[in-house]
Formats: sequence, C-alpha cells, structure tokens
Amino acid sequence: MYSKPIFLEPEFKDYIWGGQKLKNIYKKNVKNEECTAESWEISTNKNGESTIKNDKYRGKTLTELFNDLALRKEIFGSKCNNLQEFPILIKFIDANNSLSVQVHPDNEYALKNENSQGKTEMWYILDCEPGAQIICGVKPGVDKDTLKKYINSEKISNCLNYIDVKKGDAIYIPSGTIHALLGKTLVAEVQQNSNITYRVYDWGRVGKDGKPRDLHIKKALDVINIENTPQIKNIGNNEIKINIVKSEFFTTNKINVKNEVVENKAGESFIAVNVIEGNGKLEIENNKYKITKGDSFIIPACVKQYKIQGNLELLESYI
Ligand code: ZN
Repeated sequence: MYSKPIFLEPEFKDYIWGGQKLKNIYKKNVKNEECTAESWEISTNKNGESTIKNDKYRGKTLTELFNDLALRKEIFGSKCNNLQEFPILIKFIDANNSLSVQVHPDNEYALKNENSQGKTEMWYILDCEPGAQIICGVKPGVDKDTLKKYINSEKISNCLNYIDVKKGDAIYIPSGTIHALLGKTLVAEVQQNSNITYRVYDWGRVGKDGKPRDLHIKKALDVINIENTPQIKNIGNNEIKINIVKSEFFTTNKINVKNEVVENKAGESFIAVNVIEGNGKLEIENNKYKITKGDSFIIPACVKQYKIQGNLELLESYI
C-alpha cells in the first residue's frame, strides 16, 4: 500500500488578467514573473497537468498515476474505479483584473457538444482588497430575452448580480450560472475536471495578440440558467472542520488546525489538500512531512488515519 502524501507541482497560466500574488504570497515558482493568473494545483486536465514532486512517483504527471489501473483503488479510491478521468481540478487564481463574464455547461451539454465533463465550481476567497466584488447570476427580474438583448454589450452589466466579497467567503457556482471574478481577488477554485468556458462579454478589451478574445454567445445562451441564484457563505476560523460544499461532484471542507487535528477516513476516495495559511507537519504512519502555505498534495485513499500539527488552514476536497 502506498501511504505517503503525493506533493504536486502546478502548471501555470499567464492569462491577461493575472498578477504577481501567486509568486509573492504563495511563493510559487511561476514562469511569468509579471503576470501569472492561475496555478493548476491538482490537475490531470490535458490543458494543464500537475506533476508529482516527491518520492517514487516524482516526475510523473498526476494523469500518469491516475491512469495506472493497478494503483487506482489504493491511491484514488474505489469511487474512482470506473471513472475515465480524475474527477476534480483545483486551482489558485490571482484575479488581479476582471475575468470575462462567462458560463460553463453541465455534463449533458458538455458531453454532447465538447466531449468533456461539464463544470460546476466553487470559489473560496483566500484574500481580496476592500470593495472587492464578484458577479454571480442575474439581477432579480432579468429574463432570458433581456439578457440576450444585452449579452454582447457593456449594458450587460445592468443585468448582472454584483456581490461584495470578503476573505473567507465561499461561493458555489453550479454549471449554467453566469459569473465572473472581478479584480483584486485571490481565490482557490475547486471544480469538475473541465476546461469548457463560454465567454459572453470581455469588457471591450483585447488579448495578448491585440485582438478581442473569442466569445461564445450561442453556446452560452444554450446553457445559461437564469434561475440559478448565488449561494454564498462565510467560512470562519472557529470550528476545526467546516463543510463548504457537499455536491454530487465534490465535497470540500475547511480545516482549521490550532495544535493538532487527527483525521480518520473511510478510504473510498483520495483527499486533495491545499494549505492556504500557516505551516506545520503532516503525519502518516509515524512519518512526518513538512507542509506550508501554498502546498498542494493528495493523501492516498488507502491511508486510514493522518494527523496535521501546527497552526494552519487547509482545504480538503474529495468525492
Ligand atoms: Zn468559471
């Protein structure tokens, strides 16, 4: 049984709206020092795979490990036995400027039209500047015809639901919800393993090549569900374990470690962990591993118990 944590090196994305926080705050080994938008921390997605950086699987991609069927059950768990792909994707996102207003399809639409999973996602606000906002859903009373009329103009702003956010807020975004991260927010995103985004409005700006980035209005209108209303909650630091989301696609909890937390688990799923604050140690079967803010790793499904010591905040996700 492989009972060691699997530490991962992310893949970076330097989209135009990124910044320098992943380098400065999370000490990430970014490729583009001026502008890094995302680090794909725990990913087997072909658009950006994480690489294993410790022990005997060092240098392999997480995808290669997932595709090794002899190891599937012990590392990823029985719930992954029949899956074609690793089910989730976790990113850190430095939204220094606004992202496009966008929407993602559900499984049914994505499988039919894109040969991909759909994308339901959850944002956890790691940090933000005062006055930071996001867009999630449409304003009450806006119907689909109104949205269609204004969809590719600056007037779309009048249709969209702007929400103030603060550090520790979590927002669940089911597929079909129109949304955007606006600037000045640093986010951990847990999502289905999918990279299908339909852009509906890009603030009149241009991409790196000086041309407007592609929009996908028709598909967006196919999938937008204006009934989706934002689900937002603030996750505190007081309890040891707080459930952020429990959905058919993934479960995410926040763990606040003050001294020591002992976790016992059922063994049907891997646990994907992101250290979002502090530092300390992870202990599995009397072996100790240093962990620090910005680290992402997988605890194999076969590990029945682990301890986390120190002063830390973690996100743990599983299926
Ligand atoms: Zn999104």
